[in-house]
Amino acid sequence: MRVAFFSTKSYDKESFNHYLPDHSHEFTYFEPKLDSNTIALAEGFDAICSFVNDHLDEKTLIKLDELGVKNIVLRCAGYNQVNLEKAAELGFKLCRVPAYSPEAVAEHALALLMTLSRKTHKAYNRVRENNYSIEGLTGFNIHGKTVGVIGTGAIGKAFCEIMLGIGCKLLAHDIYENEELKKLGVTYLTLDELFAQSDIISLHCPLTPDTFHLINSTTLSKMKNGVVIINTSRGALIETKSVIKALKNRKVGNLGIDVYEQEENLFFQNLSETIVLDEQIARLMTFPNVLITGHQAFLTHEALAQIAKTTLQNLDELAAGGDLSNEIKWKS
Ligand code: NAD
Repeated sequence: MRVAFFSTKSYDKESFNHYLPDHSHEFTYFEPKLDSNTIALAEGFDAICSFVNDHLDEKTLIKLDELGVKNIVLRCAGYNQVNLEKAAELGFKLCRVPAYSPEAVAEHALALLMTLSRKTHKAYNRVRENNYSIEGLTGFNIHGKTVGVIGTGAIGKAFCEIMLGIGCKLLAHDIYENEELKKLGVTYLTLDELFAQSDIISLHCPLTPDTFHLINSTTLSKMKNGVVIINTSRGALIETKSVIKALKNRKVGNLGIDVYEQEENLFFQNLSETIVLDEQIARLMTFPNVLITGHQAFLTHEALAQIAKTTLQNLDELAAGGDLSNEIKWKS
């Protein structure tokens, strides 16, 4: 297949080019993000390969359909960026990488949590300036804390296992309960019970109409004072304006996010010479107890290799025209 690859970064090219010789596909790497303005680049290709912030909305899908490109491979797990109903109506074949390295994302959630708990981001800067004062660096133990995990699929499960290893009490909420986790001592509760009892809450559910703004002023009011919130899932699970208010009144004690509601126009770009007009991220960055990373939880060598392998396998299956192991289907 001739594949138009959107939102290309050097690490994508490196991992895909490594595995490409074992397959009979031809890749053209485009740097621009995919949207209705850039979709014209897909003309003459058999498939497009896109990432988390590439827009596959109705307008883009209609244009892609007009170009006669009917195959879409997402090199990510989440698919909230795709209008699935329109994709099904137009007859697109759509595949994803359901699980590439759940541990990579779970470990990043832990990294955010541990950085916040011991202020290592501040200690790092101090020591580099020969400032060995430890005033103001008092942290908190994670051991013994009650951790609430929302979404116990591949990543949430890996995160629960890590936290059990650290000696935390694990609470969980999911629309399906995982029996294996229950045997390990994880207790499933309603969302309200989880909010009321957790010292630390980590989000690992997908972004859907049901989970949009799951963390909002009402749900925040049900949480413990000083709760730590970690989000490595999708930005819009958190209503940013409510969390800012909760940081100001200290309801939220620490916030670690790898994803952000309005990340689309910020993340994956070097904007260091630009005037950023997003007031909310600017406000978030003023809090000493907020740690933000730019959607890098997936970025390990192991995860990139798995993303490339599964995406190429998805393309093999699309080219063969048979069953698709990782197809995303529209369910009304
Ligand atoms: P998964 O499908 O294995 O697990 C998701 C879990 O959420 C499932 O158990 C599902 O039942 C549960 N769920 C669905 N709706 C729910 C609801 N309303 N309330 C509670 N639970 C609900 O997915 P995964 O591989 O564990 O990934 C989870 C999310 O992590 C993805 O949807 C994606 O948005 C995000 N992600 C982020 C990165 C990153 O780099 N930051 C990388 C990969 C995935």
